[in-house]
Order: sequence, then C-alpha cells, then structure tokens
Amino acid sequence: MYNIKKGDLMESFFNFLNVFFTAKDEVLKDITKEDDCFYIEYINNSLIRALNTYIPNSFINNLPLIPETVISKIKKHIISHNKYVELGDIIETFISYVEPINLINLLGNIDSLQITYDKKIDHKSLGYYSLKTNTIHIFNNKYPTLSHEFLHAASSQIINGIHLCGFSIGNEHGIYFEGLNEGFTELFNHRIFKEKIISYKTNVLICRCLELMFDNPKDIETAYFNNDFDFIYETFLQYGTKEEFAYLCKRLDYFSKIDHYIDEAKVVLDFLYDIISRTKDNQKLEKFKQITEEITPEPLKQKIKKIIKKNM
Ligand SMILES: [Zn+2]
Repeated sequence: MYNIKKGDLMESFFNFLNVFFTAKDEVLKDITKEDDCFYIEYINNSLIRALNTYIPNSFINNLPLIPETVISKIKKHIISHNKYVELGDIIETFISYVEPINLINLLGNIDSLQITYDKKIDHKSLGYYSLKTNTIHIFNNKYPTLSHEFLHAASSQIINGIHLCGFSIGNEHGIYFEGLNEGFTELFNHRIFKEKIISYKTNVLICRCLELMFDNPKDIETAYFNNDFDFIYETFLQYGTKEEFAYLCKRLDYFSKIDHYIDEAKVVLDFLYDIISRTKDNQKLEKFKQITEEITPEPLKQKIKKIIKKNM
C-alpha cells in the first residue's frame, strides 16, 4: 500500500539537492564551470524560494478515499471537457487503467489543455508538453508521441511557481530529474497504451530495474501521477545512499539527452544491481537479470549467432 513517511519533506529534499549538485560525475564533462555556477545560483535563488513556499497537497500526505460518486463525476468531467477527438481513446484507456487518485492532475488540466501540431523544429524531438501553457506540441502525429505527451499533461501541476511534472521538478527556467521522469513516462506509455517504446530506451530500461526496489509497482504510478518525488527517494534510501541516488539521477539525465548507449547503460545497471541485491530478495534479482537479458542489441545478437554457426 502507498504509504508515505513524510517526516520533514522539504528538509530531506533540500538535503538531497545539495548532494545532487555537489556530486561529482566525471562523465558529465560537458558541464562547464559556468554551468555549475548557474546551477548553484539557480538552486540558491528561484527554486529554493519556490520550494520554501511549497506545501504538499493533503492527498499526497494522506491519501483520501474518494467516494464512488465523486469518482464517476471526475471521470465524466474529464471526458466531457476533452476538446480533441484524437484524445478520446487515450483518455478512455487511461481512465479505466489508473487508480482514481491518479486522475487529480488530469482533472485540473483537462479544461484548458491544448494540442498544437507544429512544424518540426527539432529533428530529435517528436513532441513536447509545455506545462506553462498546458499545451501538447506534436511534431508528427504518431500515436506513441501523443499518448506520451498526454501522460505529462496528466501528471503535471504548478504550485507556487514550481513546475511539477511526474518526478521532475523545476520552474519556467529549468527542470531537474528529467531523465527519471522521461524513463517512467515512456514506460507507462508502453504499459498503459501498449505503445512501442520509441524514446528514452536506456532510461526505460533503468527505470524498469529501479522499479524492482518497490514492492508494489502500482505505488510508483501513484507517486508519479501525484508528483511525489520524495516517495521514490525515501524508498531508495532504504537500500542506497543519497550519493548513489544523486549519481543515478544524473546518469538518467545524461541518457535522456543522448541516443541509446548500451555500454554506458551497463555500468549503471551493474551499479543498480548491486543496490537491489541489498534487498536480499532473490525474486527481485532474478527479475533484474531477465530484464537486462533483453538488452543485447540486435546486430550483436546476429553476430553471435553467426559465430556460433561458424564454430558448429
Ligand atoms: Zn517526455
């Protein structure tokens, strides 16, 4: 069951942010000294100020039981306030899949949600969701992109100037923990809408393994759709350290900006395997191995087959 030991949310989160920004990550060589200064200033000023005034919603601290009559009203409202034919099936599938508690952000965003089909301005991006304008921008109208961006819209809110989108946190100038968020977004896009994983493949793989740390994967969904970064962080701390979590988040941010790099991902997967082995749960470790066995890239598999054939 989803159970948050909040304690002092902000204190533990600030504490973690310090670790995150001071953690050395030798692979992130492209971050210059200037960028570091920017991060520190950014953290010291805008985000910290905003976080200071952030009061977690009561439903995050204390999940309320939503009465059936209210649930059906929420669902009816979401369906009737959708202005887009193309979102019809997506909304229907989403509503029947997730727990009612996970509909709250969608309920808040559906009335003013916009979709625009833009000319492709960035060849790497298929679309994006702007929390500031509550708009889904699509550069091609393929379904996986629309439902992926829809998940961002269904998991976002702005509280006192802080932009909370799934597990990412930021303001209009920048965003943090994007890699963690994109990994789970694309994973849920696959799980909820049965879409093929086309983006953030490395992030999805790592998030699938990270998920093993939690006894009930449904809890991660609830945390994701209610912007409870702290839940994932606190659970990780049962087995790992703040520094290890900072390293993982940074690597996920890195992987979200590059293409699928299997060798670098393997280093992170070994690191994560070591942490999950601290759970002393053989079932989890077995599952971990199953997930990572899927990752051998296709050309390499063919090469191996040829070598085996040759040597037979
Ligand atoms: Zn995304």
